[in-house]
Amino acid sequence: MEQTLTYRYQDGLYLNLTNRCPTACKFCIKFTWEMNYRGYDLKLNGKETPVSEFIESFEKEKKIKPFSEVVFCGYGESTYRLQEMVQIAKYIKNNHPSIKVRLNTIGLGNLIWGRNIAPDLQGGLDAVSISLNTADPSQWVEIHQPAKPYREKGFESVLEFIRCCVPLLPETTVTAIEQPGVDVSRCRDIALKVGAHFRSRPWLE
Ligand code: SF4
Repeated sequence: MEQTLTYRYQDGLYLNLTNRCPTACKFCIKFTWEMNYRGYDLKLNGKETPVSEFIESFEKEKKIKPFSEVVFCGYGESTYRLQEMVQIAKYIKNNHPSIKVRLNTIGLGNLIWGRNIAPDLQGGLDAVSISLNTADPSQWVEIHQPAKPYREKGFESVLEFIRCCVPLLPETTVTAIEQPGVDVSRCRDIALKVGAHFRSRPWLE
C-alpha cells in the first residue's frame, strides 16, 4: 500500500517523516483518529523512506497546487530523523526560498541525540513549534507518558531545547494544548521569559 509521505492542511504541505515517538501524549489524535488525519492515512510501513522520495513528493505537490509553508509534522517525532529532516529543509531553502519551513516537535530532540541539536536546524528551518503543554514537571510526565529514557530528564530537556532554539532560529514558539487542570498561562510565562512566542491550541476530540 502506498504510504502518505506528504499531506496538506490549510496552506501548508506537511511531511510525515516517521511514526516513532518518545512519548504517548494523552492529547494525541493519532490514537483517537486511528492514525488517520482528515482523510490521510499517516501509518507508515516501518521502513523509513529516503530523502529523495520526500523531495519527489514535495515537487509533485508543488506542481499540483502551490503552498506557502512546509511543516515537519506527522504521527511521529521528526527529530528522530534529524539528518534527513535537515537535508530536506536545506533543499527547500536553496531551491524555493520563499517557502517557510517549520518543525512541530515534542521538544525531546536534545535528549534523543544526547546533545544540543539546535545548531543543526539553523539554515534550514525558519521556525520551530515546541509542544510544552504544562509548566509542572510531574504533570508533564502524566500528560506525555514518556518512554522510560525520557521520564526523568524529559521536562528539563524540553525547556533546555526551547532556550537553545531561541537565539539560533528566526522563530521559536512554545505551544500548549488547552485541557482541564492545566494552567496554560504558566507556559506562556516560560515562553516569554526566554524570548519565545506562545500559542495555546484547542484539544481536538
Ligand atoms: S510526540 Fe507527537 S505524534 Fe507522538 S504521541 Fe506525542 S503528539 Fe502524538
